[in-house]
Amino acid sequence: MPSQPSTHCIFCSRSLAEVGGARITASQNLGLSIRDVRSNAEAAKGGIIRAVSPDAESPAVEFWGNLWDEHSIERALAELRADRQPWLCQICGGRLCSECGSPNRWADGCDVVGDDGSVTHQMIVPTSKRCTNPTCSLYAPS
Ligand SMILES: [Zn+2]
Ligand SMILES: [Zn+2]
Repeated sequence: MPSQPSTHCIFCSRSLAEVGGARITASQNLGLSIRDVRSNAEAAKGGIIRAVSPDAESPAVEFWGNLWDEHSIERALAELRADRQPWLCQICGGRLCSECGSPNRWADGCDVVGDDGSVTHQMIVPTSKRCTNPTCSLYAPS
């Protein structure tokens, strides 16, 4: 398993500081997951579009969702070879506030990657206050 996250979103190259919210590795509609450790990723709804190993010793990584193309898949594999866990920001992942479009505080039902590269699942939290934008009526401070 990678020991750190990538520095930027695999699709748009924004940093986490630029976007806020969480680093998403897997949602139902879009993501990637190392096949051997896929325990809590939601089952890929649209089906796996590609399964490929970053190198000869590593298990296959599965990709799903319509944002992937040859270039982004190749970038993701290069990140994994460099011991970094690829992720996508909440803008690319579509986890945005319904009121103002800022990233939500949680990426409901997604797998996210922490500062140590570990992937965890974010539960679906039933609350209306979930926005990261302090001026939004749906703002949640933490
Ligand atoms: Zn992005
Ligand atoms: Zn908002």
